Formats: sequence, structure tokens, C-alpha cells
Amino acid sequence: MPGKRVEAVLPPMVDPVTAAAAMTARVAAVGVESVPLEQAAGRVLAEAIHADRDSPAADHSAVDGYALHAEALEALRGRESALPEMNVAFEVVTGTTPPPLLPGQVARVFTGGLVPVGSTSVIKREWVDEAGGVIRFRKNAVQDVLTGANIRRRGENARAGDLLSEPGRVINPAVVTTLASNACSSVQVFRRVRVGIAVTGNELASASTSAQSEAQVRDSNGPSLRALLSTAPWCEVVDVVNVPDRLEATDSTLKRLSEKCDAVVTTGGISMGDHDYVPDALLALGAEVIYHHLAMRPGKPNLGAVLPGELPVIALPGNPVSALVGAVVLAGDVLRKLAGIEHIDTRPRHAVAPGPVARRPAEFWHYVPAALTEPGSLRPVEHRGSGDVAAIGRSDGCFELPAHAAADEPEARRWFPWSLAR
Ligand code: AMP
Ligand code: MG
Repeated sequence: MPGKRVEAVLPPMVDPVTAAAAMTARVAAVGVESVPLEQAAGRVLAEAIHADRDSPAADHSAVDGYALHAEALEALRGRESALPEMNVAFEVVTGTTPPPLLPGQVARVFTGGLVPVGSTSVIKREWVDEAGGVIRFRKNAVQDVLTGANIRRRGENARAGDLLSEPGRVINPAVVTTLASNACSSVQVFRRVRVGIAVTGNELASASTSAQSEAQVRDSNGPSLRALLSTAPWCEVVDVVNVPDRLEATDSTLKRLSEKCDAVVTTGGISMGDHDYVPDALLALGAEVIYHHLAMRPGKPNLGAVLPGELPVIALPGNPVSALVGAVVLAGDVLRKLAGIEHIDTRPRHAVAPGPVARRPAEFWHYVPAALTEPGSLRPVEHRGSGDVAAIGRSDGCFELPAHAAADEPEARRWFPWSLAR
């Protein structure tokens, strides 16, 4: 008989943090592939990156100016009142290797150009007047002419072979900087996590269905979960399937999705109704249920299971606010673990401005839709419960109130934006 609570590894009404951790512990990262650097942004690094050569690879000028030989430097010392003129021996062509600098010589050099062997410092252009190949130092020039000034020395950033980036990092633009600087034209990344979404409910009609009766509910979970998963470049939505409330249809859809995906997310059909078939369909497929019914609101009916082969199924309630909250709170870390992401608890915390926040029952964990107002501050969005598809669109995410959190605690709260790409 459908609609019953099924036996689970964790006891009923366990907290959502324990539930998410138990599911996350059961899954392992997907396989690895190589992608060109131009396609690596947002993907998860699957190899350690070591410096392929010293960084910088040679001594570079950090400024536009004049490279000075040690002897030229000596000639300047103690002569601040009568600085000598000097001939410019040559100009360093940026991107080429210049000849060595001989005693008494200066060479014109630009930022990023190699300083000639023999240079001990580069004096900034703004401290010098140049006319007819002769430079004259301005009064305050000497302060800038310290040995080694304005030269980026070979290897001062990193030595060849140094570890620069570890696997498990999401490749952000800064990681791309490091990859490109080490001539990584392609990079090993975890392949995208393939996710299938099954949306249950006989009452559902898609936004594009032409004739819609009032008895029909517009399917928002399918599009909204697709949108959520699409925020992560390391994730790929393989299929979004609408399933009628029938055991065989639920069973065959879950089977089909599990065969081509790394994770399955479902909505609806996990409550106590006579036509809630998701738990039975999962059991028929040999699933081990990890949790069913959590001390969280919205989202008490939540269910998490693993199919044979440790394939996670995150079964979310049908109510749209519950589904979205469950997706960020319960599915997020499981998908990140599959994606190969390390250090996953970098979730921000924000202060919460006073506002309407339901905290009953006190032993439940509450997730409150909220808008980011000013930097670091959240404003709860007034809404009429887990089916309020009108108010949810005014929120940017939800914050977490642990069980028994007091209304007047000034503590910053864990923030779950409606995004997987943190
Ligand atoms: P269920 O969890 O299947 O009992 O559904 C709970 C409530 O959420 C019911 O009012 C459903 O009509 C509604 N609901 C279920 N699925 C969706 C969906 N995909 N989009 C919008 N509302 C839904
Ligand atoms: Mg339903």
C-alpha cells in the first residue's frame, strides 16, 4: 500500500544536516576527462597542478624605466645634489632576450621585459628625463634606486615543480590564471555529474500546455530544478521527465533515469497519500533508504536513498518551496561530492533582519526564504507556506534556523542561495 513511511537507515525525524551528511558519505566522485583550457571554467580540477618552470621564468622589469648596472648605481650614491647624466646603451625589446648590461651602462626597458644580465635595479621612467639618448635623474630618483628595486626575480613566485593547485577545486578565473601561466592547454577535470529529474503528479500541466483547466497545477518543479542545476557548470541535466502517479510508470522512469545518470532527483509522491508511489518504486528497484521524514520545515516528507551501485536518489516533496529548499539543503552537497569538489562547507553566513519567521515546531530545523538586501544582511520574504509560488520569486535563497534557535539570537545564519555554484 503506497503512502507509508518506509524503513530507513536513519530514524524518522532526524535533522537535515545529519541526513545530508549520511547521503554524501555514500557517494564517490564521478570519473575524469580532459578538456581544453577554454572550456575549463566552472569545472572541477581533477589533477594537481605543479609549476612547469620557475615563475617568473627570468628576471623581469616590474616598471617602465631604465635598468641600471651595479656600477651605475654606485655612481649615483651620495650624489643626490649633482646626479650624473648617463647614456642609454640600448633598448630591451619586450619579449626578447637582451644582451648583458656592461659596467656603467643603463638600458631602456618596459614592464614585462627581461632585465639584462648585470642589472641590479630598474629606475622608474617618471624619475628620469631622457633627451637624445641621454638620461638625467631627477632629484628624488635615488630613493628609488635601491638594489633590486622594480625587478621581479626569476622563481620569486614559484619554483619549477612547486604544487600550485590541488584537485577538487572549482576552476574559477584565478585558477585559469595559474593554468594558463603553466601552459596547461588542456586540463584533467571531473566529468559533469549527470542528473535526471522525475516530476510526479497527475495534476501537473506544463507551462506550454495550451488547454489548462483550473484543476491542473502548473509544473514549476521541473523547470525550477533544471534552472537550479544549470547554475553549476559541473552538472548536466540529462532529462526532466513528468511521471503520472502510477507505480509502474514511477518505477520504469526511475529505472531508466538511473541507467543513464549519476544521480536522480524526484519531486512529489513521497507523502502519506494513496497515490504517492516514489518510496515503493525505489524499494522495487532495490534501493536502500537512508532517510524518510525529517525534522525540517518546509520539507518534512523528504526521502533520500541509494540505488544499487551507490546511485543517490534525492526524493523531494512536491510543494514548490519545499522542493527548492530540499534541493539546496539536501541535494547540494551530494551533487558536489559526486562532482569531485573538496572543501564543500564554504557556505556563507549572513545576519538576518527582523521579519516574519515561523519557528514552530521548535524541534524542527526551519529554512526561511529570504532576499539579500544590503551586503551581508537577509530579509525574510513573507510567504504563505510551502505552496506559495507567488512569494518564492521574491527570494534569493533560504537561511537556516537550527532546531530551538531563539528568535532574538543575533547569530549569522547559514545561507543557501538558489544556486549550486557558490
Ligand atoms: P505531493 O508531494 O506530490 O503530495 O505534492 C504536494 C503539493 O505540491 C500538491 O499540492 C501538488 O499539486 C504540488 N506539486 C507537486 N508537484 C508539483 C510541481 N511539479 N509543480 C508545482 N506544484 C507541484
Ligand atoms: Mg503528488
